[in-house]
Amino acid sequence: AQLRRRLESELEEIRGAGTWKSERVIASRQGPHLRLAGGGAGIINFCANNYLGLSSHPEVIRAAVEALEKFGAGLSSVRFICGTQSIHKDLEEKIACFHQREDAILYASCFDANAGIFEALLTPEDAVLSDELNHASIIDGIRLCKANKYRYKHMDMQDLEAKLKEAQKHRLRLVATDGAFSMDGDIAPLREICQLAQKYDALVFIDECHATGFLGPNGRGTDELLGVMDKVTIINSTLGKALGGAAGGYTTGPKPLIDLLRQRSRPYLFSNSLPPAVVGCASKALDLLMESNAIAQSMAAKTQRFRSKMTAAGFTISGKDHPICPVMLGDARLASVMAEDMLNRGIYVIGFSYPVVPKGKARIRVQISAVHSDEDIDRCVEAFTQVGRKHGALP
Ligand code: PLP
Repeated sequence: AQLRRRLESELEEIRGAGTWKSERVIASRQGPHLRLAGGGAGIINFCANNYLGLSSHPEVIRAAVEALEKFGAGLSSVRFICGTQSIHKDLEEKIACFHQREDAILYASCFDANAGIFEALLTPEDAVLSDELNHASIIDGIRLCKANKYRYKHMDMQDLEAKLKEAQKHRLRLVATDGAFSMDGDIAPLREICQLAQKYDALVFIDECHATGFLGPNGRGTDELLGVMDKVTIINSTLGKALGGAAGGYTTGPKPLIDLLRQRSRPYLFSNSLPPAVVGCASKALDLLMESNAIAQSMAAKTQRFRSKMTAAGFTISGKDHPICPVMLGDARLASVMAEDMLNRGIYVIGFSYPVVPKGKARIRVQISAVHSDEDIDRCVEAFTQVGRKHGALP
């Protein structure tokens, strides 16, 4: 009873702070058009990380079914005991080939990949320099390691340089950044980061969850987009967004690093192998991307359509050329009522406010997918324009 009272009071505090998160239940597959449980059909979905629309792609689903039938539901084991099948090794090879790296290691999620890398690689003699707006899983991964920690201001190269100078006293320096930041749709200045890393003898790590599969001419990611594929040493990314959307994450980079992770990385050593169906999805998604970059190109064109039409309508969209398109509104209440009203018009978008984003920077985040039609995009812009006028966000 005492625990119940304590929990209820904590829950009340969360409600009171206006930061309560609720789940909207979907009764259909993930895709551009959804049916919500308890009614709402034909909702146009603009808030999944399904950037390439592969989450419900028929070939991805078929590959999952085939892997399920051939390799079973799961391994009932971690990888190094009796949990490695040929499909795990094939997928690791495919990932390394896709990123043009020496080797790759699979995890149950990118959260796990981020939890496992820093502690395995860095000792108290080393240093890690992290962008202040890095994803929570990078922050947690860094917390778990014993290296000296430096936090530089978001994408601020002067501050990074100052911290790199300070960190010269350590044995090894690792700069860690998201390739693309999920709240702002902004892209890390990797060229400048790599130049500084070279000048101050540091390694570069990027989290490519919001870039793998679609940024750069062939969808390899931020490093390809910015021409620094040979300068970034370590990439962590997810299979749970553009690459089929099921689950899973990985690290790819130099072979001795991947070998070390297989020996030391705790989420790899102490957690079950990825289920075959999940491996099948990701493997097929990578095949589709390596065959052609048409899907990634189609998403880029739709992103461009949405960003330019919304800007012409009078909205401010944060970031540049990224399918994460935050419609900046400032006021938390405005973001929340506008998102609600958008849903009434059949457009599913989500409002974000403090503490998820800084105070006064509330926004509605729109995410574009290759499987949105031009008509879906235009309907979204039209609904924003009507709702924006109604609530005073537009004149
Ligand atoms: N890193 C970033 C930047 C993310 O946005 C996410 C997911 O939200 C993760 C890591 C975690 O990825 P996963 O869902 O594979 O655990």
